[in-house]
Amino acid sequence: MADETIPGTDKASDAKIRCDACPVMCYIKPGMSGACDRYANHDGDLVRVDPHIVLDRALAHGGTVVPFHRDGSWDGQLIAPPETFVTAIGAGTTYPDYKPAPFIVSSEVDGVDMVTVVTEGIFSYCGVKVKIDTDRFLGPEQSTVRASGEAVGHVTTSEYGSQMLSLGGVHHLTGGSKKEGRVTCEALLDLCNGKPVELTIDGGSTVVVQAGQPPIVNGVKEERMRVGCGSATIGMFAKQWLGLVDDVVVVDDHITGVLSEHQAGKVLGVPDTGIKIKGRRSTPGRYFQVAEPGTGWGGTNISDPLSILGPFDRKVAWPGLRLYFISTTGEHAAYYELDETLSPRQKEMPAELAALSQRVKDNCEPALSTVLFMAGAGGSLRAGVTENPVRLTHSVKDALTYVTCGGAPVYVYPGGGITLMVDVTKMPENAFGYVPTPALVAPIEFTLRLSDYEELGGHMAEVRPVSSIALNDGLQTVGPHSDNPWPLAPNAAKRFFG
Ligand code: SF4
Repeated sequence: MADETIPGTDKASDAKIRCDACPVMCYIKPGMSGACDRYANHDGDLVRVDPHIVLDRALAHGGTVVPFHRDGSWDGQLIAPPETFVTAIGAGTTYPDYKPAPFIVSSEVDGVDMVTVVTEGIFSYCGVKVKIDTDRFLGPEQSTVRASGEAVGHVTTSEYGSQMLSLGGVHHLTGGSKKEGRVTCEALLDLCNGKPVELTIDGGSTVVVQAGQPPIVNGVKEERMRVGCGSATIGMFAKQWLGLVDDVVVVDDHITGVLSEHQAGKVLGVPDTGIKIKGRRSTPGRYFQVAEPGTGWGGTNISDPLSILGPFDRKVAWPGLRLYFISTTGEHAAYYELDETLSPRQKEMPAELAALSQRVKDNCEPALSTVLFMAGAGGSLRAGVTENPVRLTHSVKDALTYVTCGGAPVYVYPGGGITLMVDVTKMPENAFGYVPTPALVAPIEFTLRLSDYEELGGHMAEVRPVSSIALNDGLQTVGPHSDNPWPLAPNAAKRFFG
């Protein structure tokens, strides 16, 4: 909060003040801010520069519905439970964490006394998982991913229609050179705050990633996520192709499908065509490795689909055989007929078939980049919540404590610690900060029943009613994300849990 004085700061005789909100311990001159731009010296007081965000459920109900006390009769001082949730965005930190979290606020919800412990966690050990919806080849698995030339992560697995990247983590943030740590922190911060970041992959492509936006691969904006693998595409559309063509090849880097050989074709009575596909046959009508990965047809490196065909079996094929190729995004499609020598000749695609190419396209989801922030909140941060830190971990695992990041639900991993993952697009804008240690600063809130909080050794003396927080210039009210469950709902199921 901009006018909230941060306790526990040293005032030096030259009027510089020392910020102890992170290990950098800046001395800040009057009128200046510290190295992270989050704290400043305002007339000798250390203040948090960014507004402190509270979520107001009334705003989500159309934006014009304002509770009675906030119209002309509002006294200008109070915010009200249970319609208001205090997030940690702009709340500040209490490094080192032997101190209670900056805000421990209580409210009564549905007759239940709840408490939310609010703090901006400093995460030296964090990263992001990036899911990029694309068939295009981004780079070999395990390749280094770079930002501004520095290694910031690596390529992990390719999943259904998406390429996964793992960025950040201990190794890049603190285990490499100073520059590597700084660039990694910067890339993570931008990604988490919804800004575009250009990443280059060793032995692969350049991709611009922005949370919730289509990826841009080698300068080309990706439009569609594939409808499925080649085999799945045959399953989905085999019936519709029936009668229009004699055979269909769905070109795909992972599984290329052939209608006449595929189970779907067999069941529908599609006769053999004598087609020969180059590649490793997995099961009937399903081929692996028809080409190298690339940015051409179906995520392969081919621009001519005929290059994956061998000669037709002369005993089976016939002149005039109608052959249709399509890629798994519908982006590429072509129609051929066999001539007298059983060689495919490209022909204008019949209108009905063209309409089905469009249907494949229409069935594709829009391609997006997804950025999931991942961090372990099981460190000393817990001491800001309770004097008995392991009990917070147990409480989270026992589903008594609900963890949110800026009010957004998180997925908590099974196993030790409080390892969480959150979709950054579910959080309010610019929810993340950084400190130059380097580390990311992320909001985290723990909401639980007051009675449970007392039982786990919470800092009960620090609990204050949410209505005691003054509405002033330092407080910014925003509507919660419409997809998010309301964090202050003691009796509602609202957990994504491992
Ligand atoms: S980097 Fe920011 S949080 Fe850390 S001491 Fe300096 S001003 Fe405070």
